[in-house]
Amino acid sequence: MTPKVNRRTKIVATIGPASESDDMIARLITAGVNVFRLNFSHGTAEQHARVAMRIRKQAAIAGNYVGVLADLQGPKIRISTFRNDAVDLVNGDRFRLDLDLGEGEGDTRGVGLDYAQLCSSVVRGDTLLLDDGRIRLRVDDVDTTGVDCSVLVGGKLGSRKGINRLGGGLAAPALTTKDLTDIDSLAEIKPDFVAVSFVSSAEDIVQTRGLLKKHQLQPAIIAKIERAEVVADDNTLNGILTASDGVMVARGDLGVEVGDAQLIGIQKELISRARTMDRVVITATQMMESMISSSMPTRAEVFDVANAVLDGTDAVMLSAETAVGSYPVEVVKAMADAALGAERQPVVRTSRYRLNTQFANAEETIAMSAIYAANHYGNVRGIACLTESGSTPLLMSRLSSGLPIFALSRHSQTLQRLCMCRGVIPLFFDASAFDRDSVDARAIEFLHDSGFLQKNDAILLTKGTTVGAAGGTNIMKILPVP
Ligand code: PGA
Ligand code: MN
Repeated sequence: MTPKVNRRTKIVATIGPASESDDMIARLITAGVNVFRLNFSHGTAEQHARVAMRIRKQAAIAGNYVGVLADLQGPKIRISTFRNDAVDLVNGDRFRLDLDLGEGEGDTRGVGLDYAQLCSSVVRGDTLLLDDGRIRLRVDDVDTTGVDCSVLVGGKLGSRKGINRLGGGLAAPALTTKDLTDIDSLAEIKPDFVAVSFVSSAEDIVQTRGLLKKHQLQPAIIAKIERAEVVADDNTLNGILTASDGVMVARGDLGVEVGDAQLIGIQKELISRARTMDRVVITATQMMESMISSSMPTRAEVFDVANAVLDGTDAVMLSAETAVGSYPVEVVKAMADAALGAERQPVVRTSRYRLNTQFANAEETIAMSAIYAANHYGNVRGIACLTESGSTPLLMSRLSSGLPIFALSRHSQTLQRLCMCRGVIPLFFDASAFDRDSVDARAIEFLHDSGFLQKNDAILLTKGTTVGAAGGTNIMKILPVP
C-alpha cells in the first residue's frame, strides 16, 4: 500500500443554498472540506442549527473530523432596498444616502440606510465604496438626515449592498444586537470556532468570549481583520491577536478599504504574525470567485490559493463559491489541488524559524524539537502527538514541515478544533485506555493500520508523563514501525 498523500492546508467552505443538503455536505467532506462556515449574515439561527446538525451527522458517517465555524454578521453597514430591486447608477449622477427613506423606497436618486451615525462619520470629499467597491461615490455634502454624493463609478446597484469608506473608519463598534441574539443561539449549535466580524479592538474578542462562556461554550475565537484602521495600528492588531485564537484575512472588506495593492503585503504580514504568535490564520474571499459559475478556476485563482499557502496560511476559504455557486464540489477539489501543488515546494517543507528564540516551557520545547528532528531525520514519516487540549500539535504546526502531525486524542472538541491547523491530522485515539507501557506501541499500530505508516518507517512520538493531563507534554521519542 502506498502511503496516503495528505493535504496540509485546510479548506473552509461556506454553507448556503447550494450546499446545505445532507447529500452535498457529504460530498463536500469527501472532496476535502475541513471546516464549514455558517454565515450569520444570511439565514436564520434555526436554519444554521439544522445545518450544523447535518454537518455533525455527515462527518460521523464519513468517519472524519470536521469543524463548524459560526461567523457573526457584525456591524456591516448596508443600504436598504430599492423599489425595483436594483438601480443603474450613471457616472456623474447625484445619489443620496437618505436616513428618511424606508424599505423599498430607493430609486436612482437615493436609497435608505439604517446607520444613523453615517452623517457624523463621513465628510465632504470622502470616497464611499458600495457593493465591495464596484460602485464609487464621492461625498459632496452632509446634513443631519443624509449624505449627498456624486457617482464616480456607476453600474448596477442592488438592494442591501454593503458600504465601506476608502481608508476605513466607518463601521460601528463590533457586536450588534443581532450578534448578541445570534450568540445566544450558538448554545444549540456548539460551534468549534466563532468568527467576530469587523473587530475593532481586543475588547470585542474578550466580550465575545465572555458571552459564549455564559452558555458553557469555549470555541476558538477568530478575529476577522477587515478594518483599515486595525491594520494601520500595531498595538491594536497585536492586542487582537493576543486576545483571539486565530485571525481571518478578510480580504473582501479589508481590500475595499485599503485597496488591493496594499492588501498583498498585509496578507503576508498577518499570516506571519499570526504564526509567530501561535494563532491560526484563514485567508478568505474571492479565492476562486470565477467558479461560482465556471467549472474550472482561472490560472490566476490557482496561483492566489497557492500563494496563500506559500505565505503560510493554515486555511483557505470559499465563500459564494460553495454557498451559492454552481460547482461547490468541483471548487473544493480545485482548491485542494492548488494547495497540494504549493505544498510540494521546498520552501514550505522546512523551517528556520524560532532558531534564535528561547522557548517558553517544556511543551513548546518538545513541540519545536520534534518538528526539527522530524524535518532533519531521514526515516521519520510523521509525528504522533498524544494530546488532550491540542496545544502541542497547534505549536508544532506553527513551524513549516512536510511531515504530517498526527494529533491523537479522545476529545472530539479538541480534534474538531485541530481541523483548522495546517499539517495536523486529527484522529480519535484514547490513550487512557491503555497502560503506560503499551500505549506507544498501540498508537503506532493504530497509525499503521489506518494506512499512515509502513513497516520500517520511523515515527516521532510526543506525550506527557501523565497520560490524560492537559498541557503536560514533556516526552519525545523516536520509534521504529515494527
Ligand atoms: P464576509 O467576511 O464574507 O463575512 O464579508 C470576509 C471578508 O470580508 O473578506
Ligand atoms: Mn467581511
